[in-house]
Amino acid sequence: MARTLPSVDVVFVGMGFTAAIIARELKDSSVKMVGLERGRARNTVPDFQSPSMHDELAFAVRHGLMQDLSQETVTFRNTPDQKALPMRQLGSFLPGTDLGGAGVHWNGQTFRFQPEDFRLRSHHEERYGRDIIAEELTIQDWGLTYEDLEPYYDRFEYLLGVGGYAGNVGGEIRPGGNPFEAKRSRDYPNPPTAPAYLGVLFAKAAMELGYSPYQVPSSNMTRAYTNPEGVRLEPCMVCGYCERFGCEHFAKSSPQTTLLPVVLQQPNFALRTNAHVTRVNLTPDGKHATGVTYIDLATGQETIQPAELVVLSAFAFHNPRLMLLSGIGKSYDPSTGEGNVGRNYAYQTMGSVSLFYDEDVELNQFMGAGALGTVISDYVSDNFDHSKLGFIGGAYICAYTTGARPIEYHPVPPGTPRWGLAWKQAVARYYNHTGGLQVHGQSCARRTNYVDLDPTYKDAFGQPLLRITFDFPENDLRMSHYVTDRAGEIAERMGASQVVVNPRTAPYSVVPYQTTHNTGGAIMGADPKTSACNRYGQSWDVPNVFVTGTALFPQNASYNPTDTVGALAYWTADAIKTRYLSSPAPLVQP
Ligand SMILES: Cc1cc2nc3c(=O)[nH]c(=O)nc-3n(C[C@H](O)[C@H](O)[C@H](O)COP(=O)(O)OP(=O)(O)OC[C@H]3O[C@@H](n4cnc5c(N)ncnc54)[C@H](O)[C@@H]3O)c2cc1C
Ligand code: SF4
Repeated sequence: MARTLPSVDVVFVGMGFTAAIIARELKDSSVKMVGLERGRARNTVPDFQSPSMHDELAFAVRHGLMQDLSQETVTFRNTPDQKALPMRQLGSFLPGTDLGGAGVHWNGQTFRFQPEDFRLRSHHEERYGRDIIAEELTIQDWGLTYEDLEPYYDRFEYLLGVGGYAGNVGGEIRPGGNPFEAKRSRDYPNPPTAPAYLGVLFAKAAMELGYSPYQVPSSNMTRAYTNPEGVRLEPCMVCGYCERFGCEHFAKSSPQTTLLPVVLQQPNFALRTNAHVTRVNLTPDGKHATGVTYIDLATGQETIQPAELVVLSAFAFHNPRLMLLSGIGKSYDPSTGEGNVGRNYAYQTMGSVSLFYDEDVELNQFMGAGALGTVISDYVSDNFDHSKLGFIGGAYICAYTTGARPIEYHPVPPGTPRWGLAWKQAVARYYNHTGGLQVHGQSCARRTNYVDLDPTYKDAFGQPLLRITFDFPENDLRMSHYVTDRAGEIAERMGASQVVVNPRTAPYSVVPYQTTHNTGGAIMGADPKTSACNRYGQSWDVPNVFVTGTALFPQNASYNPTDTVGALAYWTADAIKTRYLSSPAPLVQP
């Protein structure tokens, strides 16, 4: 029988960046908070220390920091007429687990979205007319603007200690930065990364073609930094074991290195790990949350945590899944277009270009950092004229040097045998003489891309798995071909002896890693019929439930999501603190 604990004011489901931000913003209030995290507690010392943290097999190949699929996975299919099958090995995406979530093993590439990303449908209709948007695309405006979020982007970037060179401070365009970025109130807190050699080659070629290269905004520290919370980070060692690993040097911004040291000291906050939340409990009329139920994984005890306010701060998959499991909102049905939970699942449309150099060009890519890259934004979003292209959206083109680790990194040119002596010789020949350009593209929402509860498969706790139905829309495939061709032109100027262009092709497969930038399912918007949450992340259907993270995105932009995720968390925290707590009610009337 379930035990019931004393009630709290706020309960968080999942303790990654977003939960930590909201818990910190409520530090001076009288509210009592509990953070429930399904995974273990962990910290830079002792958990992320070398030599064990540089075990590539354990962490990069066997995914030691990621979700355990034997406990909970997803099912997947490309189209609604297929039967979805469970994903039994991690591949295309790598959801995190344990305290700090995926913010521990992320890269730290910290981009803001552009203003038109938040008004995607309106912007395109205004500039090009309605016909530019393919009928199957269900892209929507977010219900908030870049200007709304700007102060919160600023908060998050100063929390993280982002290193970069701003291209637009207060409306002044500054050479050397991103000339397409929207007005920001001040520069980054830290200087940009020094470019790697591949980045130097890329910048030169890009400038010759008239583009505007700049250094990727980086949450790998470019110098020692004490953030506004008084937490100190140290300079990045460019160790090459960044994405998929915790940082032993306190140099990658993560919940552990920016916020948790102060959040865990707050008298009004308690952390409970090994607490797997199975549902949000509702009053009989389904209109009010009374708390959550979780399983204490250490004892197996089912536990009810009553709360006045529930924050769903789990990953993009888990937030809509918990809503559906709990009866919050209506499950989306692609055949009718009705239902506000599960709709507009989107991803990231990734292309690439490989550059194989002669042996006298030493790229030394084994030194690297998660956000060490040189990038152009000339083909991002609507920064280029789409009137004759047959698609909307775009991608950034980046020369990343994130670390060429020995087990995963063995690029060889097409036509090389896939095993045996010739393969080994090619790996040795090309290891230090191969580079890549990433083409990191937008993902438009589409009527038949969505998430719901699987009718067949269940998790270790007997609950239906989340079912993903997804394939790339024709719009995004065209975009990927177009921008990857432009990346190929840059690569041709970078002096490689062979250039191989790899645009994204269909069908989408969950096997090769692409990104963990899964979005949608509990999207924000202005209409309760077509969005699960209002512009503050508050559920339309159960107003004492708030949602955080990429589940809120109505579609995905060209850039990586976390700067926007953090900004949204500050935005939501502000709304809770200044408006909701004094008057717990819907913050927006439909
Ligand atoms: C390999 C990788 C590289 C990345 N690199 C970048 C990058 O360079 N730039 C960028 O912008 N973004 C990047 N990201 C994305 C970034 O990590 C996420 O956007 C960010 O971590 C999201 O924070 P969050 O708090 O929303 O969720 P998460 O970090 O996912 O945290 C959610 C937490 O909820 C917990 N949880 C889930 N379900 C339950 C449950 N039922 N009960 C209790 N707890 C639960 C999880 O265990 C987890 O700890 C990357 C992600 C990955 C995986
Ligand atoms: S590359 Fe830098 S930030 Fe990343 S893990 Fe290594 S030292 Fe830390």
